Amino acid sequence: MTDEPLHPRLLAAGPHVGTGAWRTATVVEVVHPSPRAVILRLRVPDRIDHLPGQHYAVRLTAEDGYVAQRSYSVASAPADPLLELWVERLVDGEVSGFLAEVVEPGDELVIRGPIGGWFVWDGMTPAVAVGGGSGAVPLLAMLRHAQAVGATDRLRLAVAARTLDDLPFPDEFAAAGAVVALSRTDYEGRPAGHLTAAEVAPLLRPDATGFVCGSTPFAEFATQLLVDGGLPAAALRVERFGPSG
Ligand SMILES: Cc1cc2nc3c(=O)[nH]c(=O)nc-3n(C[C@H](O)[C@H](O)[C@H](O)COP(=O)(O)OP(=O)(O)OC[C@H]3O[C@@H](n4cnc5c(N)ncnc54)[C@H](O)[C@@H]3O)c2cc1C
Repeated sequence: MTDEPLHPRLLAAGPHVGTGAWRTATVVEVVHPSPRAVILRLRVPDRIDHLPGQHYAVRLTAEDGYVAQRSYSVASAPADPLLELWVERLVDGEVSGFLAEVVEPGDELVIRGPIGGWFVWDGMTPAVAVGGGSGAVPLLAMLRHAQAVGATDRLRLAVAARTLDDLPFPDEFAAAGAVVALSRTDYEGRPAGHLTAAEVAPLLRPDATGFVCGSTPFAEFATQLLVDGGLPAAALRVERFGPSG
């Protein structure tokens, strides 16, 4: 493994790349990997390079002028020419319902980003990342980036969800050797249950930055696992996906 920068353009951009103005993105592809989610692939004019871990704001405006805005993490690697989002369809979710049920290829979406300068992985630092449910999305951008630049040995991953349908990109995480913990169903010989300290322990290394992402309860649970495993709290970066209501 080399310590030379693997992606000079990205590193030059640093963690504080500008979010730019609101842009109109075109939906190129819509995929429903399960009844509980939708993947949107967007063409964004004059797209600003993102770092894995950053997110975009998506703004919807109704005919009467009512506006709803939500955040969605980038799933795609920086090198991907399209911007990819994975959205969990919440039963009575205002924005996620629209994105999952109404949006079609050719539609336009108003977006702004990339946003976020703290929960980002530079592709250089050793990292252990734990994501729950939709909190696995930014970890996928990290994984895809690591694969693109040959840095997979620097990134260790654990992802958790209730069932496989609730987990973004389960096949990609499993193929990459991530720990996959499903709390309600058995999976590949692993009995149903929450992520455990024993599963997280082999991922830890003393010089790693820890990334935790998910709902507030999951973030608290996973943070505790990493701290109990010996990762200093100061080395942790946590992103919570709370209700936006
Ligand atoms: C930085 C960041 C990144 C994110 N990335 C992703 C991502 O990659 N993928 C993803 O799917 N999500 C992501 N989220 C969450 C996303 O922004 C939205 O919160 C989510 O899609 C729900 O929005 P919604 O409009 O569909 O639901 P909302 O209409 O906002 O409702 C959310 C939930 O709250 C409940 N609720 C709403 N209003 C009330 C009320 N008044 N009383 C009681 N309950 C209420 C609803 O029943 C629903 O279950 C991210 C959030 C953040 C902050």
